[in-house]
Amino acid sequence: MSEALETGIKQHIDGAFETTIAELCELVRIPSVSWPAFDPAHVQASAEKVADLMRSTGVFDFVDIRRAPVDGQENEADPELGHPAVIARRAPKNGAPTVLLYAHHDVQPPGKDEEWDTPPFEPTQRGDRLFARGAADDKAGVMAHVSAIRALKATAGDDFDLGLAVFIEGEEEWASQSFGNFLRENRDELAADAIIVADSGNWDIDTPALTVALRGAVAFNVKIDTMAHATHSGMFGGAIPDAMLAAVKLLGTLWDEDGAVAVEGLTSADLTTPEYDEARLREESGLLDGVSPIGRGEILSRMWAQPAITVTGIDAPDIANASNTLIPSVTVRISARVAPGQDPQEFYDALTGHLTKHAPFGAKLSFEDPGLGHSFSVDTTGPAVAHIRAAMELALVARRSIWGLVDRFRSSPTSSRSSRRLRSS
Ligand SMILES: [Zn+2]
Repeated sequence: MSEALETGIKQHIDGAFETTIAELCELVRIPSVSWPAFDPAHVQASAEKVADLMRSTGVFDFVDIRRAPVDGQENEADPELGHPAVIARRAPKNGAPTVLLYAHHDVQPPGKDEEWDTPPFEPTQRGDRLFARGAADDKAGVMAHVSAIRALKATAGDDFDLGLAVFIEGEEEWASQSFGNFLRENRDELAADAIIVADSGNWDIDTPALTVALRGAVAFNVKIDTMAHATHSGMFGGAIPDAMLAAVKLLGTLWDEDGAVAVEGLTSADLTTPEYDEARLREESGLLDGVSPIGRGEILSRMWAQPAITVTGIDAPDIANASNTLIPSVTVRISARVAPGQDPQEFYDALTGHLTKHAPFGAKLSFEDPGLGHSFSVDTTGPAVAHIRAAMELALVARRSIWGLVDRFRSSPTSSRSSRRLRSS
């Protein structure tokens, strides 16, 4: 990038900062919760607001609000539609590439009012951070794209060569129900050479980061049966195995002495991870004094590059209802993380195979409700990653040099994602 362009972009971003934050606040005031129990009119309103913001840049050939049928209903006469998304495109010129900008304008439900210090949909600055549902995830992502486009236009003029495509989803927080159909129906208009997803975390508030890999997810229930019916523990206890005994012994085979996963056929990824010491792990996770971390290798490699298996629930009699009974059946919820590069079906087969093979006393196992999510791993050798790294360095230098000159907001994470994001800082 030329020096003039760099300076121009920095100046524009600084000059427009207050306006950008004011627009972010307007967007945040729309309670665009995409969950079914909430009024979808708010999601429509936020789509319209985002479309207006995109139109205000004046660089697109078109800006539209579109919906697609919920995935799996393509052939129905009157399919249920997903929430509205904003799509925009500007054709490239002179052989320039096209960059697709992604973010989402819907939010998670606010939860209980009494757990908020300030109203969830009234953006409030505390210190140098902005608090409200969606202030970070992901309306900040929307505004980052909008202000980047404006800065580019203000500096390079509106005749720049770069092609742009925009996809601002309206149902990311509700499992992206029409995502597959939306991509299929809008394939040509979303085609791009690189995609920038503004919906992941930074290393810390002073260090931007690029998410280059994510673990996949495998979750299912395993039902463990040992008896046709419950029996008295005073009579049969010690002679026949209850389902809880079988469950405890079975689950114990999933990890070794260090707490590392001990299932054959689960792979790890070869990722270089930034430094992250045990003290930071303890602080960020709330690990109790005297309780040791689990696993082996670099700490971040355990969380980003290696598989993990967690028991997240057990259906068995609760203590209030515990009688002197041998329990005939127990159901365990297993939630596992798949290392980048491994197919989740292969992982699921290896894990259920392990459980079947290790079922103690011939206990009967059945597997229910499997959910499989793919891992993600990006090739970082291409030009897009080199450009984004250079841009981040530039932003860091700019930020340090103007520290104190601008009334600075930094939005706060208001919801945590289910999967730990893998970043290269
Ligand atoms: Zn998000």
